[in-house]
Amino acid sequence: MAEDNNVEVPRLGIEPETFRLAAANMVDYVIKYYCDVDKRQTFPDVEPGFMRALLPESPPDHPESWQEVFSDIERIVMDGMTHWQSPGFFSYYPTSASYPSMLADMLCSGVPCIGFSWASSPSCTELETVMMDWLGKAIGLPECFIHGGHGPGGGVIQGTASEATLVALIASRSKTIRRELSRDPTQRTHDIVGRMVAYTSQCCHSSVERAGLLSLVEVRRLPVKDDGVLEGGVLKDAVLEDRKAGKIPMFVCVTIGTTSCCTFDDLEGIGKICEAEDIWCHVDAAYAGAAMVCPEFRFICNGIERATSFNFNPHKWLMVQFDCSAMWVRDSSDLVNSAEVNPLYLRHNTESSTIDYRHWQIPLGRRFRSLKLWFVLRMVGVEGLRSHIRRGVREAKHLEELVRSDGRFKVLFPVILGLVCIKLKRPGSSLENENDLNERLYDKIHEDRRIFIVPSTLNGVYFIRICTGSTHCSIEQVNKCWQVITEMAGQL
Ligand code: PLP
Repeated sequence: MAEDNNVEVPRLGIEPETFRLAAANMVDYVIKYYCDVDKRQTFPDVEPGFMRALLPESPPDHPESWQEVFSDIERIVMDGMTHWQSPGFFSYYPTSASYPSMLADMLCSGVPCIGFSWASSPSCTELETVMMDWLGKAIGLPECFIHGGHGPGGGVIQGTASEATLVALIASRSKTIRRELSRDPTQRTHDIVGRMVAYTSQCCHSSVERAGLLSLVEVRRLPVKDDGVLEGGVLKDAVLEDRKAGKIPMFVCVTIGTTSCCTFDDLEGIGKICEAEDIWCHVDAAYAGAAMVCPEFRFICNGIERATSFNFNPHKWLMVQFDCSAMWVRDSSDLVNSAEVNPLYLRHNTESSTIDYRHWQIPLGRRFRSLKLWFVLRMVGVEGLRSHIRRGVREAKHLEELVRSDGRFKVLFPVILGLVCIKLKRPGSSLENENDLNERLYDKIHEDRRIFIVPSTLNGVYFIRICTGSTHCSIEQVNKCWQVITEMAGQL
């Protein structure tokens, strides 16, 4: 008989009093983290595989104390972190942090539920519907996207912008199949899918191409000029060409705030073509959408009333912790009809009059993420969010001025929000011929480790992206960042 090594475990893993003390430690630790994060190196020095050497080969059989676990956070985890909340973080679009959002995450974890249907946790569904209306109104979305207790428009929280694009593309694929079959029922579904074409710009986020690969729909990345903007006319030519070749244009992903250069596609022009050609128009505003809380930045989305779906990530720039990707559709039945499967165990007797968000997303399970929106919208307020965005834009404008006042550098795209793209010039040289110089500059900055930035390219031109607006960014930090860049440039 096996030896009885049974360990008595409290139902919730540890005793309530231990939890209370540990939670207090954890809260203090997090507060201290934010107070001292400027003392940490933004990008870590660790080598790949470093973690295995720090951890035992197998998990412990017997419980360890909270103190043992707590003391290992610094020793094992923190040295290998890229500190997204550090003032030296100017690389990717930010990931938000705020105490109200953390409090909501505590509640979400503390009272777990899986809100896949209305019945699986009514508050989880209903708060989300109302919060998505609040948020939609806060960013000035047209009425057609607001649920208002009746639909057919409405919002849903996805985990990421990538999922939102995939959900939209799959819904568009299903809608197109239904439309084509109603025209000619003898067609085979996979022949229809094989003729479908989705469009986006060459500056789209990689998630759009992935959505195409995952849904077996061809994605055409259309060319942009050096301004990084996808123009309606370019789309129109591509659609006409494909229709002539017997293909079925069915989806466009418009980017508002491209990842590499924060440029804005011509939504107005593209939207008109989508309306005329019966094409789903999805707007990916993952980063830039947050700025629409400020009325003065809503112009970036002119033409939004023509979109079929719209998405942005409050978790990027709107003080809501990951994950919270807000997606709105003009007609939610497009999502519900795209992949509806209804086993008896998921059904409930109010389903005809309530929202079951499982039909609006890829997974079944979902967290109570709208708590984060509720806490942040109430404890920061829309005006508070506006000042947060405006602060990030001011920092970028300040950096732009610094760069423009230094004759060695060039600013590459209009600085509208929080991204500044720059190049070091080599007198008498073309932009492409300066690539090696800028690659060397980037390497030096990265090796120096005082700041963390990432490069990008457009049409063969390599440049350096500097993104402001993260939690601890400030004018003073931008000055320090610029000092590092100029110092490194001086050494070339
Ligand atoms: N779309 C754009 C324009 C982005 O900039 C990003 C990430 O920065 C994404 C999509 C991907 O976002 P997520 O990680 O939420 O999928």
